[in-house]
Amino acid sequence: MKRDEHNPPIPMSSILNGICRVVSLDVFYFTDHIVNVIFVGVPGSEHWVLIDAGFPGSAERIMEAAEGIYGRNSKPKAIILTHGHVDHVGNVVDLAGSWKAPVYAHTLEFPFLRGEETYPDPVLTTEGGLLAKLSLIIPKRSIDISGILQPLPSDHTVPFLPEWEWIHTPGSTPGHVSFFRKSDRFLIAGDAFITVRTSSFLKGSNQKEQVNHAPRCLTADWNLAKVSIGKLAGLQPNYAIVGHGVDMWGKDLTKGLNCLIKNVNDISRPGDGKNIK
Ligand SMILES: [Zn+2]
Repeated sequence: MKRDEHNPPIPMSSILNGICRVVSLDVFYFTDHIVNVIFVGVPGSEHWVLIDAGFPGSAERIMEAAEGIYGRNSKPKAIILTHGHVDHVGNVVDLAGSWKAPVYAHTLEFPFLRGEETYPDPVLTTEGGLLAKLSLIIPKRSIDISGILQPLPSDHTVPFLPEWEWIHTPGSTPGHVSFFRKSDRFLIAGDAFITVRTSSFLKGSNQKEQVNHAPRCLTADWNLAKVSIGKLAGLQPNYAIVGHGVDMWGKDLTKGLNCLIKNVNDISRPGDGKNIK
């Protein structure tokens, strides 16, 4: 397994950095700088998984958060990735190595997780004022975890989480996936949508809450991203944890998703100069 040694330290953080939140009896999330990693499993049990792996350099903090929930030396059954952007896989080599855990992802992400391909550079857009920082989220070079990488099952079941299904939600990357539990309509959306305003996405002090699309300049296929948002809104989730921003639930989530659906078709492709909300 090789980690990408070329990623610089992360010069950004949020007021949520380092906070671990309880969303339901068996779902927790920990904010690492500006990205969330999610723990699914009942506290104290040995049956849990980690979804996504944060920014590089945070393995210890994530392991401490895990021990806080599941007990000393507890190890997950697996690490499951929503996608391979560096803010979601930054510690996967260290964590999988320490925990001896397999890593699951959609096969369309495999080239980026086996060091064969890199994601495209961010597109210069009206969001471009933040481009210098945003570009840090795109790895200069892919990681290579071929030795421990496994495909998500083709029947959409989620390894070790029998109540959950995975949903292909491409857009930000080709193999981006979200996770859904029908019984309580719980959604883990990765970056299919986020809950911070684009304008405050990378601002540490003020992450304004809003159901939003991921920054267009980090979205490989904007049309697919819109379809994926529609797919997730159609599930009518009760709760959602996303890659960036706080968890949302109930009416706020429904209203936010409906509003995003209404507006998202008017939002232009990256690079055409139109402003976005
Ligand atoms: Zn992200």
